[in-house]
Amino acid sequence: MSTGMRRPHELDYAAMARLYPPPPEYFETTFWEDPDTIARKQLVRLQDRAQRAWRVPFFRRRWEAAGFHPDDLRTLHDLGRVPAYTVDDIRASIAEHPPLGDYQGVHPDDARNEPMRLYVSGGTTGRSRPTLYTAWDREVGAITMARALYAEGVRPGDVVINAWAYSTHNGAHAFDEALYRWLNCVVITTGTGNVTSTRKQVELAHEYQAAAILTTGDYMLKMAETAVEMGLDPKADFNIRALPGGHIGDSERVEEVWGVTPANHYGFHEVQNVAIECPRRPGELHIFEDCFVVQVVDVETGEPVPDGTQGALVITEIYKTGSPQFRYNIMDLSFLHPPGQCECGSWLRRMGPFAGRGDNMVKLRGVNIWPEAVGEVLGQVPGATEDYFCRAVRNGERDEMVVMVASGAPPEQFGEVARRVEGHLKETMGVRMTVEVVRPGALDELTGMGTAAKLVRFKDERP
Ligand SMILES: [Zn+2]
Repeated sequence: MSTGMRRPHELDYAAMARLYPPPPEYFETTFWEDPDTIARKQLVRLQDRAQRAWRVPFFRRRWEAAGFHPDDLRTLHDLGRVPAYTVDDIRASIAEHPPLGDYQGVHPDDARNEPMRLYVSGGTTGRSRPTLYTAWDREVGAITMARALYAEGVRPGDVVINAWAYSTHNGAHAFDEALYRWLNCVVITTGTGNVTSTRKQVELAHEYQAAAILTTGDYMLKMAETAVEMGLDPKADFNIRALPGGHIGDSERVEEVWGVTPANHYGFHEVQNVAIECPRRPGELHIFEDCFVVQVVDVETGEPVPDGTQGALVITEIYKTGSPQFRYNIMDLSFLHPPGQCECGSWLRRMGPFAGRGDNMVKLRGVNIWPEAVGEVLGQVPGATEDYFCRAVRNGERDEMVVMVASGAPPEQFGEVARRVEGHLKETMGVRMTVEVVRPGALDELTGMGTAAKLVRFKDERP
């Protein structure tokens, strides 16, 4: 008797692997495709996703208002005619149709036909976004994550510590599924430091000679400190060869301490992994163009910017079956390198690394300031560390930025360090900010250092 249910194993895995090859095949095939093949593939998938999005109220409403119909999508260039949306539009959709909004295109009822998962984005800015994933979407998402991990040095048979938060957020689970289902790795699910103590994590990494630890660079430094306290040498007593995610924080210091270059990739909650660092050109990220079309637009106007110019990333996924993301202006800042064949041989478009949040931008006396850029300046000032926290506040009629920075200098020198940082910020950013110097560790509660998967560096306290 038929139950009417489609079991997870009934997914067409052969078709999936053909359309979206997992590693290592991916790096023998699709990664090297020529621009015409890539473009042809993208157009077919894009047209298919546009028809799907057209049946989802959120997209239909916006597209109709803009006079766009999916049949109008005849070339890749036409994608620019599709109205983009931001997290604000998603938030409005959720407010009108709680709790899922009307942008999902699938409903928990559909889980009767296909297994599904619901993840809610982290509350780093206090607003959470639910996303429903069909089994197909989870699997292809896991394939793209597996590609990233493979490119970063993780191999079948490796023991891997996953120290991201196993929580309502997609992050840790996406890594987990990639490692377990598509890379044949043995995952130890420690979660963050407040789930499994740092000491225990170090112990596990040592005992099982883990090949990779998945967490931020900042937490890697904390683990190194703990290892040393336990009488262990991070380089000699461990076997770490990959640090995916380790670029978040002071990567030079991480490399120095662990002897491994932290890897950089780019992705986010709703779509999982988008791009991986080029093996030949550090800091340049190849986009998985069989799964995504990436555009860059001006943060304020939403108009496309020329290649090489920083703006907000607009992402369209072309791999899902459920919840579409069609011209999603994620407000992450980056830029596109001009098209062409890379030194490594791949023709896949390259983007710059994640350069901050467009919606964390604060306009001070007409100058656009991003907290991440402030963080970069701090590293150049003697006496200041790169541990910082920015607060946007309203002072009378004016917006102000208060920069809190940790310093290892003796407290009686804090005043001098503050003056130096203020001077340096004024000089490089062209606008005055207030600097408060604090002792090391004093910002941990604000940033979530050692406990959160993603460090918080900014709070908007303006009314
Ligand atoms: Zn390359």
